[in-house]
Amino acid sequence: MNNNLMSGGGFGAKPKALMCYICGREYGTASLQIHLKTCMKKWEIEESKKPKKERRPMPQPPKQLNDVPI
Ligand SMILES: [Zn+2]
Repeated sequence: MNNNLMSGGGFGAKPKALMCYICGREYGTASLQIHLKTCMKKWEIEESKKPKKERRPMPQPPKQLNDVPI
């Protein structure tokens, strides 16, 4: 089976697990893109439930998604 249709990039065929910078869970590159949209919405909903004092700004995406030192 060839699953490259979903990858979008095309260079560097290493399947890397990436961390969602919002919730900290690990996802594959393709699923992270999908997850991020959901996660951002979730974040906004969760934060909107909190009183203004306790709200946090949404985490910013790291500049280099493929070069995150662990
Ligand atoms: Zn997330």
